[in-house]
Amino acid sequence: MDEDRCRSGILFAVPKKKIAVVPGDGIGKEVIPQAVSVIEATAALVEFTHFDWGADRFLKDGTTIPADGFQMLAQNFDAIFLGALGDPRVSSNIHAKEILLGMRFKLDLYANVRPVKLLDEGLCPLKNVKPDDVDFVVIRENTEGVYMDMGGLFKQGTPDEVATQEDINTRKGVERVIRFSFEYAKRNGRKKVLMSDKSNVMTYAGGLWQRVFKEIAKEYADIQTQHMYVDALCLQMVRDPESLDVIVTNNMFGDIVTDLAAALQGGLGMAASGNIHPGRTSMFEPVHGSAPAIAGKNMANPMGAILSGAMMLRHLGLTAEAEKIEAAVLGAVQQKKTTVDVGGAMGTRECAEWIRDRVSQA
Ligand code: ATP
Repeated sequence: MDEDRCRSGILFAVPKKKIAVVPGDGIGKEVIPQAVSVIEATAALVEFTHFDWGADRFLKDGTTIPADGFQMLAQNFDAIFLGALGDPRVSSNIHAKEILLGMRFKLDLYANVRPVKLLDEGLCPLKNVKPDDVDFVVIRENTEGVYMDMGGLFKQGTPDEVATQEDINTRKGVERVIRFSFEYAKRNGRKKVLMSDKSNVMTYAGGLWQRVFKEIAKEYADIQTQHMYVDALCLQMVRDPESLDVIVTNNMFGDIVTDLAAALQGGLGMAASGNIHPGRTSMFEPVHGSAPAIAGKNMANPMGAILSGAMMLRHLGLTAEAEKIEAAVLGAVQQKKTTVDVGGAMGTRECAEWIRDRVSQA
């Protein structure tokens, strides 16, 4: 208990929200400290604990994440703020797999929420698209599908080699992410949930998604439903993004369509995400990876990380603080106080400092 607040004359001790910070690798190490300083400027009641998990630590002592790491995160923290993982010096990428996929799978963060919002017309590569035309959310199943790494090789290294990669879809997994999407729509005043799959060729998995989607939809009479094959969805995202609202899809399709979606909002540097299990310690991270090509050059756009921080605050109930950050980012975009990837001339630090100053003055 760190601070007293007075409501109706009664003093309440308000506990700070505890946040584990894992900057990770590459540009994650540049954008996350900047995003943390922006969050601090909101005066939010949060407390950060920093962890050095990433390629440097792995190369130093072989640690990816300590044996009790996931349990410790789940028990001691309200949220996790992650940068990016991936480093050319670790060719197996084992540390990235164990830390990032470990968090998603072991903490069972089954809903990957990626808001797609265009802040300024100039950021969209499409012609005549206004900010209001791109405002949708992709909810990607985050714990199943081909990412479970089940499969095998037969006759490896011969001309007759066979490789299989299983696409795992459980009733429980499909049901909970679809229900999450309807609940998300209800909570956020969204009107429509669109389920996307490839059930015309992936008949077993797609059939399960179709049946569950129709069943759950009956519980949400006020929300419209739509289905689209994922190839048609890609076309729609470019041709008529305005028609989209909440999209729910599987792990791999979600991974792919959210990169396309990020392009609509100005590129990977602008995109934020949350990996959520309602009621449990959830994790927030920018959509981009470690981008080794631009790492260490003060070039990375910090806005995806900063907006992920705002998303985390909102998730923790710190709505006013989140709104301050979002308003400052919008101001930065509109006044071109941005990095080069979105048309500005600032470095990572300078862009984040501009946003931080705006937040402090709010
Ligand atoms: P990883 O292996 O960690 O996924 P990557 O370089 O393959 O890294 P991303 O980090 O997602 O993949 O980035 C791909 C490219 O997009 C980068 O090389 C860079 O040009 C651009 N990019 C990504 N994030 C940013 C950012 N925050 N600011 C500016 N450009 C970015």
